[in-house]
Amino acid sequence: MRGNAEAHELIAPGTVAAVLELLANAPGQWTPIAGGTELMVAHAAGRLNAKKLVSLWGISDLRSIQTTEEGTTIGAGTTFSDMRGNAELASAFPLLVKAAGWIGSIANQCRATLGGNLVNGSPAADSSPALLVYDAEVELASVRGSRRIAYSDFHTGYKRTELAVDELLLAVHLPRRFEKHRQYLRKVGTRRAMAISKVALAGTVLIEDGVLAELRLAAASVAAYPTRLYRTEDALRGKALTAETAQSARAALLEEVLPIDDIRSTADYRRQVAANLLGEFLEQLEVSP
Ligand SMILES: Cc1cc2nc3c(=O)[nH]c(=O)nc-3n(C[C@H](O)[C@H](O)[C@H](O)COP(=O)(O)OP(=O)(O)OC[C@H]3O[C@@H](n4cnc5c(N)ncnc54)[C@H](O)[C@@H]3O)c2cc1C
Repeated sequence: MRGNAEAHELIAPGTVAAVLELLANAPGQWTPIAGGTELMVAHAAGRLNAKKLVSLWGISDLRSIQTTEEGTTIGAGTTFSDMRGNAELASAFPLLVKAAGWIGSIANQCRATLGGNLVNGSPAADSSPALLVYDAEVELASVRGSRRIAYSDFHTGYKRTELAVDELLLAVHLPRRFEKHRQYLRKVGTRRAMAISKVALAGTVLIEDGVLAELRLAAASVAAYPTRLYRTEDALRGKALTAETAQSARAALLEEVLPIDDIRSTADYRRQVAANLLGEFLEQLEVSP
């Protein structure tokens, strides 16, 4: 049944400080709403439990992309269309901008924010694999202060995160250290657009003296939340790229991923396709040094 707008209260204090005060004074009572592309779908379906909504839309401090020598900071309220339109971001972190182009439709990308994508905590979130292989950190803030944690530690379970009830996700920080890395990202869905991933895989690899010296792999839709594939990385790190290495990495990945059967796909399909994507990434490393 469709939701009733009159059953909800929406306020827009207009600054991060005012929102944090509100969250601190009534813990758990106010739900932040940014672009609303998740929450309004829930509202339309009559399953938006949050009665008090505090808007983050229009808070300029949350909507910025700043690049320095050290890296790039993306405000949590930055939309995916902002990210697609930022040439510096596209040059330094191409996988993230590629993923931004996968979020729903163009209209969706004009509202959907990076912060909303991460806090929503879907195992299929499109921005997550790229952030994981770029060693992203997330900055969380409350009236108690702010803290930075590795994005790989942010998700703690299915749709559960490290965010406390009085905290906002302020920004995502990306270190600039991947220029020399070979990079890969592919999403497999039912269609080429407007499709939630059945499985997605990202990778960054630095090849030195013929061996895979440094590498990161991450996947979406193969576990309760987007995750680094540490054991598969271990099967490759420090090795030359041979058929044997590729085979043992494939075996490690098939052991490591824990997908489920759901309306979009089966667990077995997801495991096999994730392994095939890894194979594709490794093949691309062989053919173009
Ligand atoms: C038609 C359609 C297609 C879609 N396709 C895709 C797709 O292909 N890939 C994909 O990954 N997603 C997709 N989505 C999901 C959605 O667009 C994204 O998850 C989006 O990034 C959510 O951002 P938002 O700002 O709209 O979040 P909102 O709906 O505003 O909020 C989502 C959640 O995050 C919380 N939140 C938001 N910002 C903050 C913050 N700064 N601090 C603390 N909490 C916060 C909210 O309280 C809420 O719990 C699709 C959605 C629709 C409607």
